[in-house]
Amino acid sequence: MSNTNLLNETHNPALSSWIESANLENCDFPIQNLPFASFKRKASDEAFRGGVAIGDQVVDLQALFALNIFDGDAQAALELCAQAQLNAFMAMGKQYWSALRKALSLSLAKGSSLEAQISQCVVSQSDVEYSLPCQIGDYTDFYTSIHHATSVGKKFRPDNPLLPNYKWVPIGYHGRSSSIEVSGSDFKRPKGQTKAPTATEPSFGPSKRVDYELEVGIFIGNGNDLGEPISIENADDHVFGICLFNDWSARDIQGWEYQPLGPFLSKSFASTISPWIVTSEALAPYKSEWTRDLADPQPMPYLESEQNREQGSLDLNLQVLIATESMRNAQQEPVKLSESNFKDSYWTVAQMVAHHTVNGCNLRSGDMFGSGTQSGPNPDEAGSMLELSNAGSEPITLPNGETRTFLEDGDCVTMKGWCKKDGAARIGFGEVSATLLAAN
Ligand code: MN
Repeated sequence: MSNTNLLNETHNPALSSWIESANLENCDFPIQNLPFASFKRKASDEAFRGGVAIGDQVVDLQALFALNIFDGDAQAALELCAQAQLNAFMAMGKQYWSALRKALSLSLAKGSSLEAQISQCVVSQSDVEYSLPCQIGDYTDFYTSIHHATSVGKKFRPDNPLLPNYKWVPIGYHGRSSSIEVSGSDFKRPKGQTKAPTATEPSFGPSKRVDYELEVGIFIGNGNDLGEPISIENADDHVFGICLFNDWSARDIQGWEYQPLGPFLSKSFASTISPWIVTSEALAPYKSEWTRDLADPQPMPYLESEQNREQGSLDLNLQVLIATESMRNAQQEPVKLSESNFKDSYWTVAQMVAHHTVNGCNLRSGDMFGSGTQSGPNPDEAGSMLELSNAGSEPITLPNGETRTFLEDGDCVTMKGWCKKDGAARIGFGEVSATLLAAN
């Protein structure tokens, strides 16, 4: 068994588009991808509306709806994509997402009779700006990388790195959605209470340990009624898609505040997402086998299914890069800090959905989960500076000779993601990027 039951004609790697930039090797947005964002022309008075990326262009879904050349479920979906926020479209469910994807794929494919009409609805990505793709009602941050949990646990609790619940419960906490912004939204270094281990009292001031967290953001499409859990068998049908997510963290504030109720102000000052949501359907070729080490506790029945075993993991390459202010002044390219892969996650997206709702909690369209920092099994696959610098004790030296333990003012952090394998089209996520500014 494999994921072939999820594949259809929109995944055919031989498909190409009449938008030639989509056919270039290593293009993030080939015709097999078709991710969604909310956009408008830069510095214009236009309203934000839904768009789909293809090559270096955006298909304006409001303009496409007005052409009235699609029909049935695809046209009904387009009507809701014309809005500034995609929640209503995302709530329609898989049947409509899939109908629109199929219609877009057919009409953007080389040889389509709709080329002349659709080319009127296309805007260059270099001419647009983005907003959040939907209103994020609730944001829940998980902690699904056991490699991250173990190495961070060692720094906060050397004698007891992995707490006993970790292998049983997909750990998470309820985060703050109001401070989630789209790529390009720079933010100020947060201030707060911190206490050095040797100090007798806490002090107040700008955080000295601002860090990034390499995560993916998971968007709920159609939610569930309060009191009606989503079973693991149905979980994937509720997931609209995935983006890149940088969950900025102030480690010194975190270290002082986190017990007993978990992170609070160390996380809620800023989080940044990539503008494009890559749909679950586009990712089908990259859903892969999920296993649990036989020496570990096996999942409880509500977190276990055949489908989750066969295609619960996602083979998604993740990368973090940094460009310091002096690098940018010298016109130097960003440099890579680390790489990891979401397939190394201890828990799957379906397990997160099933666990989140098992008590009856209702998810709503546009709710977002953070995956938790995705660190791989090797030390150079760490998804945060806390790990890379061994909690600040081993500075990282950049190619220009600058060193970092945590982020300095002016540092721009960029994250990229892509799926790639033989026999399938490469699917990219674009990037999420933002710069840490000086504190007030
Ligand atoms: Mn996080």
